[in-house]
Amino acid sequence: MDIVKYLARYLTIPLFDKREGKTIGPFLKELRESQYYSPGKIRELQLSKLKDILIYADKHCSFYTRRFADCGFNPQSFSSFEDIKKIPILTKDDIRSNQEHIVSDRFKIKDLFYKRTGGSTSVPLKLYVDFQACDRKLAATLRHNSWANYNRGDKLAAIWGDTEREYSFKEKVYNYFNTRTIYLDTLLMSEDYNKKFIQKVRNFKPTVMMGHAHSLYALACFIEEHKIADLGIRGIISTAEILYEHERARIEKLFGKVLFNRYGCEELSIIASECDQHDGLHIHAEGLHVEVDGGDETNPGRLIITDLDNRGMPFIRYEIGDMATTKTGECGCGRGLPRLGKIYGRTADLLYTPDGRTISGISVLDTFTIHIPGVKQVQIIQDKLDVLNFKIVKNDDFNDKSLGSFKEKIPLYFGKSMKYNIEYVEKIVQTERGKYRFSICNIPQEKRGAKPL
Ligand SMILES: [Zn+2]
Repeated sequence: MDIVKYLARYLTIPLFDKREGKTIGPFLKELRESQYYSPGKIRELQLSKLKDILIYADKHCSFYTRRFADCGFNPQSFSSFEDIKKIPILTKDDIRSNQEHIVSDRFKIKDLFYKRTGGSTSVPLKLYVDFQACDRKLAATLRHNSWANYNRGDKLAAIWGDTEREYSFKEKVYNYFNTRTIYLDTLLMSEDYNKKFIQKVRNFKPTVMMGHAHSLYALACFIEEHKIADLGIRGIISTAEILYEHERARIEKLFGKVLFNRYGCEELSIIASECDQHDGLHIHAEGLHVEVDGGDETNPGRLIITDLDNRGMPFIRYEIGDMATTKTGECGCGRGLPRLGKIYGRTADLLYTPDGRTISGISVLDTFTIHIPGVKQVQIIQDKLDVLNFKIVKNDDFNDKSLGSFKEKIPLYFGKSMKYNIEYVEKIVQTERGKYRFSICNIPQEKRGAKPL
Protein backbone atom coordinates (compact mmCIF):
# COMPACT_ATOMS: atom_id res chain seq x y z
CA MET A 1 0.00 0.00 0.00
CA ASP A 2 1.25 3.42 -0.99
CA ILE A 3 0.77 5.40 2.23
CA VAL A 4 2.57 8.49 0.93
CA LYS A 5 -0.01 8.72 -1.87
CA TYR A 6 -2.81 9.34 0.61
CA LEU A 7 -0.63 11.50 2.83
CA ALA A 8 0.20 13.61 -0.24
CA ARG A 9 -3.34 13.73 -1.61
CA TYR A 10 -5.09 14.69 1.61
CA LEU A 11 -2.44 16.48 3.61
CA THR A 12 0.83 17.61 2.07
CA ILE A 13 -0.41 18.72 -1.37
CA PRO A 14 -3.25 20.81 0.12
CA LEU A 15 -0.69 22.31 2.52
CA PHE A 16 1.68 23.17 -0.32
CA ASP A 17 -1.26 24.71 -2.22
CA LYS A 18 -2.18 26.81 0.77
CA ARG A 19 1.40 27.99 1.24
CA GLU A 20 1.63 28.94 -2.43
CA GLY A 21 -1.70 30.78 -2.19
CA LYS A 22 -3.36 28.43 -4.69
CA THR A 23 -7.10 27.77 -4.70
CA ILE A 24 -7.61 24.52 -6.55
CA GLY A 25 -10.26 22.54 -4.65
CA PRO A 26 -13.40 24.62 -5.38
CA PHE A 27 -12.43 25.08 -9.06
CA LEU A 28 -11.84 21.36 -9.47
CA LYS A 29 -15.16 20.57 -7.81
CA GLU A 30 -16.92 22.98 -10.19
CA LEU A 31 -15.26 21.46 -13.25
CA ARG A 32 -16.02 17.91 -12.19
CA GLU A 33 -19.69 18.85 -12.10
CA SER A 34 -19.85 20.99 -15.21
CA GLN A 35 -18.25 18.35 -17.44
CA TYR A 36 -21.55 16.46 -17.23
CA TYR A 37 -23.75 19.46 -18.06
CA SER A 38 -25.68 19.11 -21.28
CA PRO A 39 -23.97 20.55 -24.39
CA GLY A 40 -26.60 23.32 -24.40
CA LYS A 41 -25.89 24.32 -20.81
CA ILE A 42 -22.14 24.35 -21.49
CA ARG A 43 -22.70 26.63 -24.50
CA GLU A 44 -24.76 28.97 -22.33
CA LEU A 45 -22.00 29.09 -19.74
CA GLN A 46 -19.42 29.82 -22.44
CA LEU A 47 -21.53 32.53 -24.02
CA SER A 48 -21.92 34.32 -20.72
CA LYS A 49 -18.19 34.04 -19.85
CA LEU A 50 -17.31 35.16 -23.38
CA LYS A 51 -19.45 38.28 -23.06
CA ASP A 52 -17.84 39.06 -19.68
CA ILE A 53 -14.29 38.80 -21.00
CA LEU A 54 -15.12 40.88 -24.11
CA ILE A 55 -16.62 43.67 -22.02
CA TYR A 56 -13.69 43.45 -19.61
CA ALA A 57 -11.06 43.58 -22.38
CA ASP A 58 -12.80 46.53 -24.02
CA LYS A 59 -12.68 48.41 -20.74
CA HIS A 60 -9.26 47.46 -19.40
CA CYS A 61 -6.94 46.59 -22.31
CA SER A 62 -6.21 49.52 -24.64
CA PHE A 63 -5.25 47.14 -27.45
CA TYR A 64 -8.77 45.69 -27.52
CA THR A 65 -10.48 49.04 -26.97
CA ARG A 66 -8.89 50.22 -30.20
CA ARG A 67 -9.32 46.94 -32.01
CA PHE A 68 -13.04 46.67 -31.22
CA ALA A 69 -13.63 50.31 -32.17
CA ASP A 70 -11.76 49.85 -35.46
CA CYS A 71 -13.91 46.90 -36.52
CA GLY A 72 -17.16 48.32 -35.14
CA PHE A 73 -17.62 45.60 -32.55
CA ASN A 74 -19.63 46.46 -29.47
CA PRO A 75 -19.21 43.85 -26.70
CA GLN A 76 -22.33 45.16 -24.90
CA SER A 77 -24.52 43.97 -27.77
CA PHE A 78 -22.71 40.63 -28.15
CA SER A 79 -25.25 37.81 -28.08
CA SER A 80 -24.10 34.84 -30.18
CA PHE A 81 -20.92 32.94 -31.05
CA GLU A 82 -21.24 34.26 -34.62
CA ASP A 83 -20.78 37.85 -33.38
CA ILE A 84 -17.24 37.20 -32.24
CA LYS A 85 -16.17 36.58 -35.85
CA LYS A 86 -16.26 40.34 -36.44
CA ILE A 87 -13.17 40.68 -34.25
CA PRO A 88 -9.87 40.27 -36.13
CA ILE A 89 -7.71 37.29 -35.28
CA LEU A 90 -4.99 37.83 -32.68
CA THR A 91 -1.68 36.70 -34.15
CA LYS A 92 1.59 35.98 -32.41
CA ASP A 93 3.03 39.07 -34.10
CA ASP A 94 0.16 41.17 -32.64
CA ILE A 95 1.15 39.92 -29.19
CA ARG A 96 4.83 40.59 -29.74
CA SER A 97 4.24 44.16 -30.89
CA ASN A 98 1.46 45.12 -28.46
CA GLN A 99 2.25 43.16 -25.35
CA GLU A 100 1.90 45.99 -22.81
CA HIS A 101 -1.39 47.17 -24.33
CA ILE A 102 -2.91 43.70 -24.16
CA VAL A 103 -2.06 43.42 -20.45
CA SER A 104 -5.02 44.67 -18.39
CA ASP A 105 -4.77 48.00 -16.51
CA ARG A 106 -6.28 46.23 -13.49
CA PHE A 107 -3.02 44.36 -12.87
CA LYS A 108 0.57 45.33 -12.19
CA ILE A 109 3.02 43.24 -14.17
CA LYS A 110 4.60 42.04 -10.92
CA ASP A 111 1.25 40.58 -9.86
CA LEU A 112 1.02 38.38 -12.92
CA PHE A 113 2.57 35.03 -13.71
CA TYR A 114 5.14 35.40 -16.49
CA LYS A 115 5.61 32.79 -19.18
CA ARG A 116 7.91 32.57 -22.13
CA THR A 117 7.06 30.06 -24.75
CA GLY A 118 8.10 28.75 -28.12
CA GLY A 119 4.48 28.10 -29.00
CA SER A 120 3.68 25.68 -31.72
CA THR A 121 5.61 27.57 -34.36
CA SER A 122 8.85 27.79 -32.37
CA VAL A 123 8.64 31.60 -32.31
CA PRO A 124 9.25 32.84 -28.74
CA LEU A 125 6.40 34.69 -27.10
CA LYS A 126 6.21 36.50 -23.75
CA LEU A 127 2.92 36.42 -21.91
CA TYR A 128 1.26 36.92 -18.56
CA VAL A 129 -1.49 35.05 -16.74
CA ASP A 130 -3.29 36.26 -13.62
CA PHE A 131 -3.03 33.96 -10.63
CA GLN A 132 -6.70 33.07 -10.41
CA ALA A 133 -6.61 31.98 -14.05
CA CYS A 134 -3.47 29.93 -13.28
CA ASP A 135 -5.41 28.11 -10.55
CA ARG A 136 -8.40 27.50 -12.80
CA LYS A 137 -6.11 26.15 -15.49
CA LEU A 138 -4.35 23.88 -13.03
CA ALA A 139 -7.75 22.60 -11.85
CA ALA A 140 -8.69 21.88 -15.48
CA THR A 141 -5.43 20.00 -16.01
CA LEU A 142 -6.11 17.93 -12.89
CA ARG A 143 -9.59 17.11 -14.14
CA HIS A 144 -8.25 15.95 -17.50
CA ASN A 145 -5.46 14.03 -15.71
CA SER A 146 -8.07 12.09 -13.76
CA TRP A 147 -9.60 10.85 -17.03
CA ALA A 148 -6.24 9.18 -17.63
CA ASN A 149 -6.22 7.54 -14.19
CA TYR A 150 -3.82 10.13 -12.85
CA ASN A 151 -4.78 11.88 -9.64
CA ARG A 152 -2.90 14.06 -7.22
CA GLY A 153 -0.61 11.97 -5.06
CA ASP A 154 -0.11 9.30 -7.74
CA LYS A 155 3.43 8.56 -8.83
CA LEU A 156 4.42 9.69 -12.29
CA ALA A 157 7.16 8.88 -14.78
CA ALA A 158 7.68 12.03 -16.84
CA ILE A 159 9.36 11.85 -20.22
CA TRP A 160 10.58 15.43 -20.72
CA GLY A 161 13.68 17.25 -21.93
CA ASP A 162 16.51 18.62 -19.82
CA THR A 163 15.48 17.13 -16.50
CA GLU A 164 18.78 15.47 -15.54
CA ARG A 165 20.38 17.83 -13.03
CA GLU A 166 21.15 18.13 -9.33
CA TYR A 167 17.99 18.85 -7.36
CA SER A 168 18.15 20.89 -4.14
CA PHE A 169 17.00 19.43 -0.82
CA LYS A 170 13.90 21.63 -0.96
CA GLU A 171 13.05 20.37 -4.43
CA LYS A 172 13.50 16.79 -3.31
CA VAL A 173 11.13 17.28 -0.37
CA TYR A 174 8.61 18.92 -2.70
CA ASN A 175 8.89 16.02 -5.10
CA TYR A 176 8.58 13.40 -2.34
CA PHE A 177 5.42 14.88 -0.84
CA ASN A 178 3.85 16.63 -3.82
CA THR A 179 4.79 15.94 -7.44
CA ARG A 180 6.08 12.37 -6.86
CA THR A 181 7.78 12.21 -10.23
CA ILE A 182 10.78 10.48 -11.75
CA TYR A 183 12.15 11.84 -15.01
CA LEU A 184 13.48 10.42 -18.19
CA ASP A 185 15.51 13.12 -19.90
CA THR A 186 14.59 12.93 -23.58
CA LEU A 187 17.86 14.60 -24.50
CA LEU A 188 19.81 11.63 -23.19
CA MET A 189 17.88 8.62 -24.52
CA SER A 190 20.44 5.91 -25.33
CA GLU A 191 20.44 2.14 -24.80
CA ASP A 192 22.23 2.45 -21.43
CA TYR A 193 20.24 5.44 -20.25
CA ASN A 194 16.94 3.74 -21.09
CA LYS A 195 17.99 0.59 -19.21
CA LYS A 196 18.75 2.65 -16.12
CA PHE A 197 15.44 4.46 -16.43
CA ILE A 198 13.49 1.19 -16.63
CA GLN A 199 15.23 0.06 -13.44
CA LYS A 200 14.22 3.36 -11.85
CA VAL A 201 10.61 2.72 -12.90
CA ARG A 202 10.72 -0.77 -11.36
CA ASN A 203 11.96 0.63 -8.06
CA PHE A 204 9.69 3.68 -7.91
CA LYS A 205 6.55 1.98 -9.32
CA PRO A 206 4.78 4.93 -10.97
CA THR A 207 1.31 4.13 -12.30
CA VAL A 208 1.24 6.83 -14.97
CA MET A 209 3.61 7.97 -17.70
CA MET A 210 3.40 11.37 -19.32
CA GLY A 211 5.55 12.81 -22.06
CA HIS A 212 6.23 13.92 -25.60
CA ALA A 213 4.52 11.62 -28.09
CA HIS A 214 7.61 10.59 -30.05
CA SER A 215 9.68 9.97 -26.94
CA LEU A 216 6.94 7.82 -25.41
CA TYR A 217 6.93 5.90 -28.65
CA ALA A 218 10.72 5.55 -28.63
CA LEU A 219 10.57 4.25 -25.07
CA ALA A 220 7.75 1.83 -25.95
CA CYS A 221 9.92 0.43 -28.76
CA PHE A 222 12.76 -0.06 -26.30
CA ILE A 223 10.42 -1.79 -23.83
CA GLU A 224 9.06 -4.08 -26.52
CA GLU A 225 12.50 -4.94 -27.84
CA HIS A 226 13.71 -5.88 -24.38
CA LYS A 227 10.52 -7.81 -23.62
CA ILE A 228 9.84 -5.80 -20.47
CA ALA A 229 6.39 -6.55 -19.12
CA ASP A 230 6.39 -5.76 -15.43
CA LEU A 231 5.93 -2.01 -15.26
CA GLY A 232 2.30 -1.78 -14.08
CA ILE A 233 1.49 1.42 -15.98
CA ARG A 234 -2.27 2.17 -16.10
CA GLY A 235 -2.30 5.56 -17.74
CA ILE A 236 -0.13 7.14 -20.45
CA ILE A 237 -0.61 10.77 -21.34
CA SER A 238 0.83 11.83 -24.67
CA THR A 239 1.33 15.52 -25.10
CA ALA A 240 3.28 18.37 -26.77
CA GLU A 241 3.58 16.65 -30.12
CA ILE A 242 1.23 15.11 -32.62
CA LEU A 243 0.68 11.47 -31.83
CA TYR A 244 0.73 9.38 -34.98
CA GLU A 245 -1.52 6.36 -35.48
CA HIS A 246 1.39 3.91 -35.78
CA GLU A 247 2.82 5.27 -32.52
CA ARG A 248 -0.50 4.82 -30.76
CA ALA A 249 -0.88 1.30 -32.12
CA ARG A 250 2.53 0.22 -30.86
CA ILE A 251 2.11 1.80 -27.42
CA GLU A 252 -1.36 0.27 -27.02
CA LYS A 253 -0.11 -3.14 -28.10
CA LEU A 254 2.26 -3.04 -25.15
CA PHE A 255 0.19 -1.35 -22.46
CA GLY A 256 -3.43 -1.79 -23.54
CA LYS A 257 -5.99 0.98 -24.09
CA VAL A 258 -4.42 3.33 -21.58
CA LEU A 259 -3.07 5.95 -23.95
CA PHE A 260 -4.70 9.37 -23.61
CA ASN A 261 -3.85 11.95 -26.22
CA ARG A 262 -3.75 15.53 -25.01
CA TYR A 263 -3.50 18.92 -26.65
CA GLY A 264 -2.36 22.05 -24.89
CA CYS A 265 0.13 24.88 -25.06
CA GLU A 266 2.01 27.20 -22.73
CA GLU A 267 -0.15 30.19 -23.62
CA LEU A 268 -3.46 28.56 -22.70
CA SER A 269 -2.49 25.42 -20.71
CA ILE A 270 -4.69 22.41 -21.34
CA ILE A 271 -6.95 22.78 -24.37
CA ALA A 272 -8.40 19.31 -24.95
CA SER A 273 -7.80 15.69 -24.08
CA GLU A 274 -9.20 12.21 -24.56
CA CYS A 275 -11.51 10.49 -22.14
CA ASP A 276 -11.66 6.72 -21.70
CA GLN A 277 -13.68 6.39 -24.92
CA HIS A 278 -10.63 7.54 -26.94
CA ASP A 279 -12.96 9.09 -29.49
CA GLY A 280 -11.75 12.64 -30.07
CA LEU A 281 -10.52 15.13 -27.49
CA HIS A 282 -12.90 16.91 -25.08
CA ILE A 283 -12.27 20.65 -24.99
CA HIS A 284 -11.79 22.46 -21.68
CA ALA A 285 -14.86 24.45 -22.71
CA GLU A 286 -15.53 26.12 -19.35
CA GLY A 287 -12.26 28.04 -19.74
CA LEU A 288 -11.79 28.29 -23.50
CA HIS A 289 -13.90 29.08 -26.52
CA VAL A 290 -12.44 27.15 -29.46
CA GLU A 291 -13.29 27.93 -33.10
CA VAL A 292 -12.23 25.56 -35.88
CA ASP A 293 -12.14 28.09 -38.67
CA GLY A 294 -12.96 26.60 -42.06
CA GLY A 295 -12.84 23.04 -40.73
CA ASP A 296 -15.31 20.22 -40.22
CA GLU A 297 -15.25 16.55 -39.30
CA THR A 298 -13.03 15.62 -42.24
CA ASN A 299 -11.13 18.77 -43.15
CA PRO A 300 -8.95 20.45 -40.55
CA GLY A 301 -9.50 24.15 -39.90
CA ARG A 302 -7.44 26.81 -38.16
CA LEU A 303 -7.75 26.78 -34.39
CA ILE A 304 -8.80 30.19 -33.07
CA ILE A 305 -9.05 30.25 -29.29
CA THR A 306 -10.43 32.75 -26.78
CA ASP A 307 -9.32 32.36 -23.18
CA LEU A 308 -12.33 32.86 -20.90
CA ASP A 309 -10.32 32.96 -17.67
CA ASN A 310 -7.12 34.97 -18.11
CA ARG A 311 -7.92 38.58 -17.28
CA GLY A 312 -4.29 39.56 -16.74
CA MET A 313 -3.62 39.41 -20.47
CA PRO A 314 -6.76 38.41 -22.35
CA PHE A 315 -6.31 36.29 -25.46
CA ILE A 316 -9.25 36.98 -27.76
CA ARG A 317 -9.46 35.02 -31.00
CA TYR A 318 -5.87 33.87 -30.71
CA GLU A 319 -4.50 31.94 -33.65
CA ILE A 320 -2.41 29.26 -32.10
CA GLY A 321 -0.89 28.02 -35.37
CA ASP A 322 -2.29 24.48 -35.26
CA MET A 323 -5.24 22.95 -37.05
CA ALA A 324 -7.87 20.43 -36.06
CA THR A 325 -10.98 18.65 -37.23
CA THR A 326 -14.23 18.82 -35.29
CA LYS A 327 -16.17 15.96 -33.77
CA THR A 328 -19.91 16.10 -33.50
CA GLY A 329 -22.38 13.89 -31.68
CA GLU A 330 -22.38 12.70 -28.11
CA CYS A 331 -19.45 10.95 -26.49
CA GLY A 332 -20.02 7.56 -24.90
CA CYS A 333 -18.65 8.85 -21.58
CA GLY A 334 -21.68 11.10 -21.07
CA ARG A 335 -19.71 14.34 -20.80
CA GLY A 336 -21.29 17.31 -22.51
CA LEU A 337 -17.97 18.96 -23.32
CA PRO A 338 -17.48 19.54 -27.07
CA ARG A 339 -14.76 17.59 -28.86
CA LEU A 340 -12.02 18.07 -31.41
CA GLY A 341 -11.34 15.18 -33.78
CA LYS A 342 -7.71 15.15 -34.82
CA ILE A 343 -5.05 17.75 -34.19
CA TYR A 344 -2.73 18.78 -37.01
CA GLY A 345 0.07 20.99 -35.99
CA ARG A 346 3.38 21.07 -34.38
CA THR A 347 5.65 18.45 -35.73
CA ALA A 348 9.17 17.76 -34.68
CA ASP A 349 11.16 14.73 -35.71
CA LEU A 350 13.57 12.97 -33.41
CA LEU A 351 17.23 13.88 -33.99
CA TYR A 352 20.22 11.54 -33.66
CA THR A 353 23.75 12.00 -32.40
CA PRO A 354 27.01 10.30 -33.43
CA ASP A 355 27.32 9.01 -29.83
CA GLY A 356 24.12 6.98 -30.20
CA ARG A 357 21.55 9.20 -28.52
CA THR A 358 18.06 9.96 -29.74
CA ILE A 359 16.97 13.53 -29.04
CA SER A 360 13.44 14.87 -29.06
CA GLY A 361 13.16 17.96 -31.28
CA ILE A 362 10.49 19.44 -29.02
CA SER A 363 12.83 19.20 -26.03
CA VAL A 364 15.49 21.17 -27.89
CA LEU A 365 12.88 23.80 -28.68
CA ASP A 366 11.55 23.96 -25.11
CA THR A 367 14.85 24.10 -23.30
CA PHE A 368 17.31 25.67 -25.71
CA THR A 369 16.44 27.63 -28.81
CA ILE A 370 13.52 29.70 -27.53
CA HIS A 371 15.69 31.03 -24.71
CA ILE A 372 18.27 32.65 -26.99
CA PRO A 373 17.54 36.40 -27.25
CA GLY A 374 16.86 37.57 -30.78
CA VAL A 375 15.95 34.18 -32.18
CA LYS A 376 12.52 34.58 -33.71
CA GLN A 377 12.18 31.11 -35.14
CA VAL A 378 14.37 28.05 -35.69
CA GLN A 379 14.34 24.93 -37.75
CA ILE A 380 16.84 22.09 -37.45
CA ILE A 381 17.41 19.83 -40.42
CA GLN A 382 19.52 16.70 -40.09
CA ASP A 383 20.70 15.07 -43.31
CA LYS A 384 23.71 13.27 -41.84
CA LEU A 385 24.34 11.74 -38.43
CA ASP A 386 27.14 14.18 -37.60
CA VAL A 387 25.82 17.39 -39.18
CA LEU A 388 22.93 19.64 -38.23
CA ASN A 389 21.69 22.53 -40.33
CA PHE A 390 20.09 25.33 -38.33
CA LYS A 391 17.83 27.80 -40.08
CA ILE A 392 17.37 30.89 -37.95
CA VAL A 393 14.94 33.78 -38.36
CA LYS A 394 16.46 36.69 -36.42
CA ASN A 395 14.84 39.76 -34.97
CA ASP A 396 16.45 43.06 -33.90
CA ASP A 397 17.65 41.66 -30.56
CA PHE A 398 19.93 39.15 -32.23
CA ASN A 399 23.61 39.99 -31.69
CA ASP A 400 27.03 38.37 -31.29
CA LYS A 401 26.13 37.26 -27.79
CA SER A 402 23.06 35.41 -29.12
CA LEU A 403 25.18 33.66 -31.70
CA GLY A 404 27.78 32.89 -29.00
CA SER A 405 25.26 31.23 -26.69
CA PHE A 406 23.74 29.35 -29.61
CA LYS A 407 27.16 27.94 -30.53
CA GLU A 408 27.93 27.19 -26.89
CA LYS A 409 24.76 25.15 -26.42
CA ILE A 410 25.01 22.97 -29.51
CA PRO A 411 27.78 20.66 -28.20
CA LEU A 412 26.06 20.48 -24.81
CA TYR A 413 22.96 19.07 -26.44
CA PHE A 414 24.35 17.10 -29.34
CA GLY A 415 27.89 16.19 -28.23
CA LYS A 416 31.25 17.59 -29.30
CA SER A 417 31.50 15.55 -32.50
CA MET A 418 28.37 17.12 -33.96
CA LYS A 419 29.16 19.58 -36.74
CA TYR A 420 26.68 22.26 -37.71
CA ASN A 421 25.84 24.99 -40.19
CA ILE A 422 23.86 28.11 -39.41
CA GLU A 423 21.86 29.82 -42.10
CA TYR A 424 19.84 32.99 -41.56
CA VAL A 425 16.55 33.00 -43.39
CA GLU A 426 13.61 35.39 -43.81
CA LYS A 427 11.02 32.80 -42.80
CA ILE A 428 10.55 29.13 -42.09
CA VAL A 429 8.34 27.68 -44.76
CA GLN A 430 5.21 25.95 -43.58
CA THR A 431 4.40 22.53 -44.94
CA GLU A 432 1.05 21.41 -46.27
CA ARG A 433 -1.93 22.18 -44.01
CA GLY A 434 -0.03 24.97 -42.30
CA LYS A 435 2.24 22.77 -40.23
CA TYR A 436 5.55 24.10 -39.00
CA ARG A 437 8.21 21.48 -38.59
CA PHE A 438 10.67 22.42 -35.91
CA SER A 439 13.06 19.57 -36.62
CA ILE A 440 13.34 17.39 -39.69
CA CYS A 441 15.42 14.24 -39.82
CA ASN A 442 16.23 13.04 -43.34
CA ILE A 443 18.63 10.27 -42.32
CA PRO A 444 17.49 6.87 -43.59
CA GLN A 445 16.33 4.58 -40.79
CA GLU A 446 19.28 2.17 -41.07
CA LYS A 447 21.86 4.95 -40.77
CA ARG A 448 20.49 6.59 -37.65
CA GLY A 449 23.02 4.97 -35.35
CA ALA A 450 20.74 4.89 -32.35
CA LYS A 451 18.51 1.86 -31.87
CA PRO A 452 15.96 1.68 -34.68
CA LEU A 453 12.60 3.08 -33.74
ZN1 LIG B 1 -15.90 11.35 -23.62
